[in-house]
Amino acid sequence: MEKLIITVATTGAITSRKETPFIPLTPQEIAEEVYECWKAGAAIAHIHVRDKNGERTMDVDIFRETVDLIKQKCDIIINLTASGGIDSEEERLEPIIKLKPEMASYTSGSVNIGPDIHSNPQHFLEKLASVMLENGVKPEIEIFETGMINNALAVAKKGLIKPPFHFQFVLGVPGGMPATPRNLVHLRDSIPEGSTWSVAGIGRGNLPMTCMAIHMGGHVRVGMEDNVYLKKGVLAKSNAEFVKRIKRLAEEFDRPVASVDEAREILHLTK
Ligand code: ZN
Repeated sequence: MEKLIITVATTGAITSRKETPFIPLTPQEIAEEVYECWKAGAAIAHIHVRDKNGERTMDVDIFRETVDLIKQKCDIIINLTASGGIDSEEERLEPIIKLKPEMASYTSGSVNIGPDIHSNPQHFLEKLASVMLENGVKPEIEIFETGMINNALAVAKKGLIKPPFHFQFVLGVPGGMPATPRNLVHLRDSIPEGSTWSVAGIGRGNLPMTCMAIHMGGHVRVGMEDNVYLKKGVLAKSNAEFVKRIKRLAEEFDRPVASVDEAREILHLTK
C-alpha cells in the first residue's frame, strides 16, 4: 500500500464559532493551524477563507495573504477550494488563475448542501477543468454521489482532466451520499483503475470513514470543515488534534504517513 496522505481542512465554508470557538478564521489563524497540522503529519492543506465577519468568501486577496503566510512557515501542498461561497463563476475561478495552487477542489456536479445548492453545471465543469489545466493545477475531484464520477470522466474524455485522477469522496453531507461502509466501497469500485482517492466523512462519519480508508489503501481528510468533535460531546481544541489522532491510528494499522514530498510523488504533482 502507498503511504497515507493526510489532508487537513481547517476551516471550510460553513462551520462557525457557534459550533466551535476553536475554528481558525483569519489568515493568521488559518496559517498557524495549518503549520501545526503540517508538523503533526498533514501533507495537504485544503483552504477556505473568511471575510472580516467570519463569513465565507472567494476574495482573492484574502486567499493570497493566507497562502503567503502558510508558505513562510512550511511547504505543505496547497489545495484551494473552488467553491468557497455563493459567488459568480468568475469569482470562483479567480484564486486558481491568480495563485496557481498545486491543487484545487473540483466538485463534479451539483448537490444540495443543507439549505443551499452547490451548483456545478456542465458548462462550468468544462470551464473549471480547462482553467485548472492551463494553470497547472491538479483537480481534486470531489464526489458527493456516484453520478459525479461519470460527470468528471465525461470532462476527462474531452481532454480537460488528465489521468491519473485523484478523487475526494465527501460522505455524510445532508443532501449527499451517507457516510456508510457500503457507499465508500461502492465509490472506490466505481473509479478508474490507477486513480488515487481520499475520503472526507462529515460529522460523526469522519472517524469510521477515515479508518476504513487507512485499511482500504485510500487517503484521508480531517479537520473542522468536516467535523468539530473528537468524540461525542468533546470539541477538538485544534485541527492538529485530528491530524495527530489519524496518524496514530494509521501507525497502529502499519500504514505509514506520507511526507509532503512523498504525497507529491503519489499524486504525480509537478511542483
Ligand atoms: Zn472545502
